[in-house]
Parts: sequence; structure tokens; C-alpha cells
Amino acid sequence: MEHIYFDHSATTPLDPRVVEAMLPFYQSDFGNPSSLHWAGQQAKQAIETGRRQVAELFCASPDEIVFTASGTESDNMVLQGVASQYQPQDCHIITSSFEHPAILETCKYLAKLGYEISYLPVSPDGIVEPESLKLAIKPNTRLVSVMAANNVVGTLQPVTELAQISKSYGALFHTDAVQAAGKIPLHVDSMPIDFISLSAHKLHGPKGIGALYIRKGVKIEPLVHGGGQERGIRSATENVAAIAGLGKAAEIAAAEMSVEARRLVRLRDHIIETVESKIPNAYLIGHRYKRLPGHICLGFAGQEGEAIHLMLALNEEGIAISTGSACSSHQAGQPSYILTAMGFDPIRARGSLRITLGRFNTDAEVDTFLKVLPRLVGELRSVTSRGFATGQ
Ligand code: PLP
Repeated sequence: MEHIYFDHSATTPLDPRVVEAMLPFYQSDFGNPSSLHWAGQQAKQAIETGRRQVAELFCASPDEIVFTASGTESDNMVLQGVASQYQPQDCHIITSSFEHPAILETCKYLAKLGYEISYLPVSPDGIVEPESLKLAIKPNTRLVSVMAANNVVGTLQPVTELAQISKSYGALFHTDAVQAAGKIPLHVDSMPIDFISLSAHKLHGPKGIGALYIRKGVKIEPLVHGGGQERGIRSATENVAAIAGLGKAAEIAAAEMSVEARRLVRLRDHIIETVESKIPNAYLIGHRYKRLPGHICLGFAGQEGEAIHLMLALNEEGIAISTGSACSSHQAGQPSYILTAMGFDPIRARGSLRITLGRFNTDAEVDTFLKVLPRLVGELRSVTSRGFATGQ
């Protein structure tokens, strides 16, 4: 059976060029970057190359990049690293109500410590409106954190305007760009963003390595204390191979972004238009155009509770997609907090299919998917209506 992978928001396959960049550090180049001898200096050089490559993706300077172990760690580092510089009563943090759990759970933890957290609403088409930030921001707002693109619906957030508003009130601005980095331009020379979180495994790089952009002059308390690596901001012997892989992944993404984005938008829009014309009860979730190039989120009116069955039926045909985010697949069938935040009622918030395309997907794979999906939706609909008719 042919395997088709359409779940790139969960994770991406490694690009062979990334594997090649990593291999020396699993074979010959084993040094500890903190060692002063030749072996250490080889490793140190690899880290600095990776740092430059990641910095170039954001038009930043290499000394503004810190390596972490994940997007989750980068998010934690910002929220906890800013909050811990203040007494809880003197620190208000604003985020949105449809962030990834890496942000929301950290905010919950900070709230338990006494910090005040506000959650911005999300419009029905999946956008955090800048006006809502103006209403929520206060003199003691220290940090605003809004994701660059949502991981379930794929909608792009107006981060430049949100950052401008934050700065005008003296607050720092962070964006979780784990889904957006390498797919849309995020250039800190023209966007007043103070922190950007990134994760390599979402851009055809390895798992377990992330980065955080920290604007020059912005202070942050470390989360991990120890030997003082990464300028003391993130101690631990660096994962040299993974950093080399992340660097290469960032370099490729930056070089190929505009051509690849155009290709993915073409495939994405072809899927949306075909699904809308062939499947009468299908609807797109989230803004039609303000979305990541390869990201589609679909609902099926009257069949929302069946999304998991549709996902499993597609899997039987060799097609991997997801029902929302990988992190929440164990909660399938429950109303999604992301769709609830967008104002969906509990029935409609129960199910969605997320189809996310990536670098190695082809037109032929999209054609196969577009043949299989309408058939499976039809089959499932007849099973469900038979089930209803017999009271099962
Ligand atoms: N933030 C967003 C928006 C994500 O989609 C994810 C992963 O799905 C993360 C953070 C967590 O990244 P990581 O898997 O590197 O911890």
C-alpha cells in the first residue's frame, strides 16, 4: 500500500540534506564544544554555524539565538524567564485562548504562583484581533505572547501589529512560531518581536532541538542552571548533531521558502476547492487566505463526532492526517478548546480533520487523497444514518 503523509504540523520527515549535515557528529566529530582542544573546537564551530543559519532565517544576529531542547522549552523559557524577574502582583501576562499547551499550561502554572494572566479572544475565523489586545493591556503588562500560526486551524496571526501595540505599552512581545518558522517570513529587522520560539522537527529537522530568538538587550532569567553554556541562558552540553541539523533545516527553509510556499498554496487551495465542490457537507475551518501555505482544517456538518472514524478510515488507506493536534489525539471526540475558543458550539467543536502538507508531498498524492476522501465521507455518512435509523 502507498503511504501518504499529510500530517506535517505534527512532525516532518527529515530532509536528506539535514541527515547529511548531522552525520559527522554521530561518527567522527564527537567533541564537547566547551573543550579548548581541536575536538572541542570542531564541535564549537558546528554550533556557531547552526546559530548563524537560524539567525539568518529571522534576519537576526547570531548572538540573539539560544538553542533549547524543544519548542516547548523555548516557550517555557520566555514565560517563566520574564515572569521570574517580577513579583507576581507586579506582572500581568497576556496570551490568546487558542495557544499550544506549551503556552497555556505554563500560564496555568504561573497563575498558580499568583501571576495575573489574560486570554485574548479569537474570532470565528481563527484570528486574534489587535483591538482586543488594546483592551486587555495594562501598565503592569510585562509580556504578550501570541502564536504566529495556530497548530490546529493553521491561521496566521497579525503578530507585527500585536508586537507594535505591546511595545507602545512597554510590554515585551513573544511569538510561538513553531508552526510558522520556515514557512512564512518572520524578520525581526522589520517586526518589533522580542522573542521567537522555533522547533526543528516541524521544518524537516530532527526532534528534540529548538531555538529561541531573544532580541539584543532583552533580559531573561534562565530556566536551566549549570555550566553556563549558551551564554548562561541555557546550561547543558549542547546537542551538536541536532544543532547542525536544525541549522541546515533553517538554511534550506530560508532558501526555498518563496518557491515552496507558492507550491503548497496551490496544492492547499486545490484540496479546499475540490473538497467543497465534491463533499456537500464539508466546510473549511479558519480564514480562507490568512493561513499557513500547506494547512487545511475541515469540518463535516452533521458528522463532527465522526472525525476520528474518518481519520482511521484514511489511515486504513495509507493516508496519515490528524483530528486536530497530535498532542490532543487522545482527547478525540471531546470538544476542541481551539474550536471552542473560535466560538464553535460543543457539537461543531467535537471534530475536525487537519491536513498539513510538506516538502515531499506531490500532486499525485493530493489527487489520490481527493479520490479517497469523498468516498470515505460518503461511506461513513451512510453507516451513520443507518445507525441513527436503527437507533444504534
Ligand atoms: N508550539 C506549537 C504551536 C506547536 O505546534 C508545538 C508542537 O506541536 C509546540 C509548541 C511544541 O513543540 P515541541 O514539539 O518542539 O516541544
